[in-house]
Amino acid sequence: MSKNMKEYIEEGEEVLLHAYNRYQIALDKGEGMYLYDLDGKKYLDFCAGIAVFALGYGNKRYNDALKDQVDKLLHTSNYYYSVPTIEAAKKLTKVSGMDRVFFTNSGAEAIEGAIKTARKYAYTHDGSTDHEIIAMNHSFHGRTMGALSVTGNEKYQKPFMPMIGNIRFADFNDLKSVKALVNDKTCAIIMETVQGEGGIHPADPEFIKGIRQLCDENDILLILDEIQCGMGRSGKMFAFEHYGVKPDILTVAKAVGCGVPVGAFLMTQKVANDSIKPGDHGTTYGGNPLAGRAVSTVLDIFEEEKITEHVASVSRYLTEKLEELVMDYDCLIGHRGLGLMQGLVFDTQKRSPAEVVKTCLANGLILISAGPDVIRFLPPLIVTEKEIDEMLQIFRKALA
Ligand SMILES: *Cc1c(COP(=O)(O)O)cnc(C)c1O
Repeated sequence: MSKNMKEYIEEGEEVLLHAYNRYQIALDKGEGMYLYDLDGKKYLDFCAGIAVFALGYGNKRYNDALKDQVDKLLHTSNYYYSVPTIEAAKKLTKVSGMDRVFFTNSGAEAIEGAIKTARKYAYTHDGSTDHEIIAMNHSFHGRTMGALSVTGNEKYQKPFMPMIGNIRFADFNDLKSVKALVNDKTCAIIMETVQGEGGIHPADPEFIKGIRQLCDENDILLILDEIQCGMGRSGKMFAFEHYGVKPDILTVAKAVGCGVPVGAFLMTQKVANDSIKPGDHGTTYGGNPLAGRAVSTVLDIFEEEKITEHVASVSRYLTEKLEELVMDYDCLIGHRGLGLMQGLVFDTQKRSPAEVVKTCLANGLILISAGPDVIRFLPPLIVTEKEIDEMLQIFRKALA
């Protein structure tokens, strides 16, 4: 007899490093907006594997492209060219307005590349090796040592001290606090356009425009991390388009591969000219043909199915409905977000978001929290009003 879900989970707990407190389900397959666990229980997905599965599960065109690539060639190393990756690079630079791209295997690696690019650019200009980077409090950029060093969360950093040097922290949406840290050693400012893990905080227009101006005036590079908020989630291809600013370096990951592990850092030609040269950076897997094919296909589907337009319209409905919830329930004290990246803020004295997430899961709805007091709504970008209504029904029941 085959094992049941509980037995598999017990086995997993004996061999997997206990780095996560996982929910007690094992997911087995997906279809559109829904996931199924090993026992066959159905879940409506408002997490999308943390903003990864933009196209929903089982998109035929995407799956067929990957299957075709598996049979052709999975990997070559970066000693050689590969057509799927060239196609992916052409499409990704076009939609982002950037000029050059380096593919990585994850978001954290994209951040590492962005940090190295900024340091090399400054080094090329003045030959000194003591440059500083300004990052934001309550930011999240990943778990490798460089990415962790620019992540403004003491809890994540402390056991792993020392961090990489010369990182200064300012307050997001407080331009004065950033200006106070700028000096002639500052080579870059790194921030998320919409802070994700920190609790869904979109940048204020005045703040991000002020940062862009500050960077222009002082030859500082602006690194925008759109690993979570990019790729259509905001209702535009990239969240920075809402503000009329452009980064010098852009990081993407998560939805760019829609399930195949891939990330990228991109830059303007001006940055490329004075930064990474052959020998400065590399990766074995990064941008292999499978990853390239995934990115290229995802971008084709985004264009043909007008995903960003769909997000812009359906997210108005979600926003309206979340605002109604805030009015209807005492335990909810606010709502923030952009597009299909939304958060409800809880009064944790009245209700624990973690407990609400658990109740929803038991009732067939997958949601995640962000920080101690926010529940995040990050559905696949193909979500419709019908599934938003279905989500609300389960969510209201959990709150009642
Ligand atoms: C998830 C995330 C990362 C890290 O990406 P990984 O693929 O987990 O390494 C970095 N920045 C932001 C904004 C993220 O949301």
